[in-house]
Amino acid sequence: MCGIIGFVGSERPLGGMLLEGLRRLEYRGYDSWGVAVGQNGSIKVAKKAGRIIATDPELPEATIGFGHTRWATHGGVTDQNAHPHVDCTGRFAVIHNGIIENFRKLRQHLLDSGHEFQSETDSEVIAHLIEQAVGDNQDVDAVVAAVRSVFEQMRGLNAFIVLDNHTRHLFAVKNVSPLVLGRSDGGSHIASDALALVDHVDQIHFVEDGQVAVIGPGKIQLVNQETGDPETLDWRPMTLTAVDTGLHGYPHFMIKEISEQPEVIRRIVTDEIEPVRGLAELIRASYGTFLVGSGTSSYAALSGSYLFSRIARRHVNFTVGSEFKYQEHFLTDKSLVVALSQSGETADVIEAVMAAQERGAKIAALVNVPGSTLDRMADYSVHLNAGPEQCVLSTKAYVAKVAVLLLAAHILNGSEHAGREILWQSVDGIEQLLSPIASDHIRAVAAQIVDQDHCYIIGRGLSYPTALESALKIKEVSYIHAEGFAGGELKHGVIALIDKGTPAIVFSPLDETRDDILSGAMEMKSRGAVIIGVSPENDEVFDIHVPVADVGDGSPIVNVVPAQLLGYQLALMRDLDPDKPRNLAKSVTVK
Ligand code: GLU
Repeated sequence: MCGIIGFVGSERPLGGMLLEGLRRLEYRGYDSWGVAVGQNGSIKVAKKAGRIIATDPELPEATIGFGHTRWATHGGVTDQNAHPHVDCTGRFAVIHNGIIENFRKLRQHLLDSGHEFQSETDSEVIAHLIEQAVGDNQDVDAVVAAVRSVFEQMRGLNAFIVLDNHTRHLFAVKNVSPLVLGRSDGGSHIASDALALVDHVDQIHFVEDGQVAVIGPGKIQLVNQETGDPETLDWRPMTLTAVDTGLHGYPHFMIKEISEQPEVIRRIVTDEIEPVRGLAELIRASYGTFLVGSGTSSYAALSGSYLFSRIARRHVNFTVGSEFKYQEHFLTDKSLVVALSQSGETADVIEAVMAAQERGAKIAALVNVPGSTLDRMADYSVHLNAGPEQCVLSTKAYVAKVAVLLLAAHILNGSEHAGREILWQSVDGIEQLLSPIASDHIRAVAAQIVDQDHCYIIGRGLSYPTALESALKIKEVSYIHAEGFAGGELKHGVIALIDKGTPAIVFSPLDETRDDILSGAMEMKSRGAVIIGVSPENDEVFDIHVPVADVGDGSPIVNVVPAQLLGYQLALMRDLDPDKPRNLAKSVTVK
């Protein structure tokens, strides 16, 4: 999940440039960071556990260097385990993204041959394997051969870069984990995300699986990882411009992005209709459509399956990304898989798409990052155009995905106008929730439950996925244990958890679920729960009423907003950073 940045070019103070790139990539992982530059005779490394420091580390001027932000998978979050890792001779440094599934065996072999390890990571084996494979050989071709054979030995989804201080080259290779090359007058660049190269390069090339990039000062070459044959670089102009990364007066990105949601939906209704129509046509033409997503995207996908059933009378399946490969056996070349991912880099979803492609299925993607891996893999893409999401929690991309799916369902049903109408109402509905009075009310609700250890959330029908997403928002940002359930499941076990004073959020739109969900609320209240009703109308069962607009089938878009706001307020009251909760990373590029 890490962020990677590297440069080979003319002499310059590299520390600052690498750190600036890493700061842009910090959303990919923020356990620890590290940079290395190649000097005459030695590699100088600066690395540390924790967030990237504000001041630049003291690194000498250099012509070659790279940096990494880590999201630990193997080995604790310590200075020593931060990347880069250096081999025994000090000639090679390595940064790595992914998990080397067979690293134990590789490490044991290396230990048996006398290599000394400085860290507990899986990644460090790469440095020693390269050292072993290259031996005393000094030329670039020998290192390319070593990179190819080491990558061959590694199991799992991985990307790594080797800095060779003798040949003064970087060598990179990948399998699923993203890498992008860039070139400019000043030199050659590489990064895990084109965002890190904005303002530095004129042209980019997305490294494909099975390509080894050989990066020298004025020249980048590609060879096939399996055969060693040269491959062609597909340079394209760098179209990304410096994204607006400012807070614009907001204290955090989370609240900024929650507040941008009306605008995001407005944009979908006005500018994005054509791509959504195309998606609806693909669904119409398919024999079986499968929505696939992980985390928040999975709840958007689940909402989609309800919306297609209800609005378009269409059975659209839903699977969590990591489970898809256990359920893909019935796909054919007539199936459609719709992959949902904010970053377009979610490893579990990419793996699902690869499995579907092997069966000949068509792929559509709903992504917020144009040019991302899923965007490039898909036969058809709908860009969410929600703008960069910098808070690690997804908010605006979630409502954008649900809005696209709702609109597609209406288009399939021949009721595009009605779908647009619902989205306009949803825009108003969210705006009401962002008003100062509504915000104060949510703050008061947060103050009432801030000291609780648990919170339960129920919904039925369209509100069931909303309950799941709401629970995820609250738990990931406030660390209060929050769990969402289908309202009907309550008496099948969950109700045992209800105790005096337990907060229970109840989604109660004015639809066919209302009577049943209110009786579920009553059952919880009878056992001491404090009922927080999110509903257009108050009811006597509610201890606290959070009023929301009645927007019909747009309720999954509007009703998640009180939970987003509640999570945000709870995080502030608990003195937590809502933008970077512990243990998380924005794009989950490992399995
Ligand atoms: N598995 C490696 C580690 O734990 C790489 C983690 C990452 O991708 O940031 O250090």
